[in-house]
Amino acid sequence: MDDCIFCKIIKGEIPCHKVYEDDQVLAFLDISPVSKGHTLVIPKEHTDNLMTMSAEQINQVFQVAQKVAQKLDEALKPDGFNLGMNNKPAAGQVVFHAHVHVMPRSKDDGLELWHQHYNYQENEVEELVKKLINQA
Ligand code: AMP
Ligand code: ZN
Repeated sequence: MDDCIFCKIIKGEIPCHKVYEDDQVLAFLDISPVSKGHTLVIPKEHTDNLMTMSAEQINQVFQVAQKVAQKLDEALKPDGFNLGMNNKPAAGQVVFHAHVHVMPRSKDDGLELWHQHYNYQENEVEELVKKLINQA
């Protein structure tokens, strides 16, 4: 993908602060971090989002996300971590090369995630579960 900023990072055309690399996966510090150590983990082969990732890419990226969390845990001793993945613009995705955010957290960092609460209507849960469970 010629116009993909993360593909350019992989090719070395744009600099990054690399924290992990292997043949399939790259991890680097987010340029606009929500916390110290906020890292992005990406597959080297371009794919748009979670829905388009291969099973192999998912395995590789999430294994590296764990590895990065363990490295950050050792280096920064945070109180916890969030993993995040924005998929499609409505969910806040702005770079359309699949990536997982690894975000170290501290008890009093004030970072607020998932404040909204969805109220299911009558029968909505049953209909949804039926739809999901009947798919291949
Ligand atoms: P998302 O909203 O999940 O698509 O997030 C894209 C993330 O990529 C944001 O957190 C940006 O700060 C980050 N980002 C964009 N450009 C760069 C870059 N050149 N180097 C590192 N992180 C970047
Ligand atoms: Zn890309």
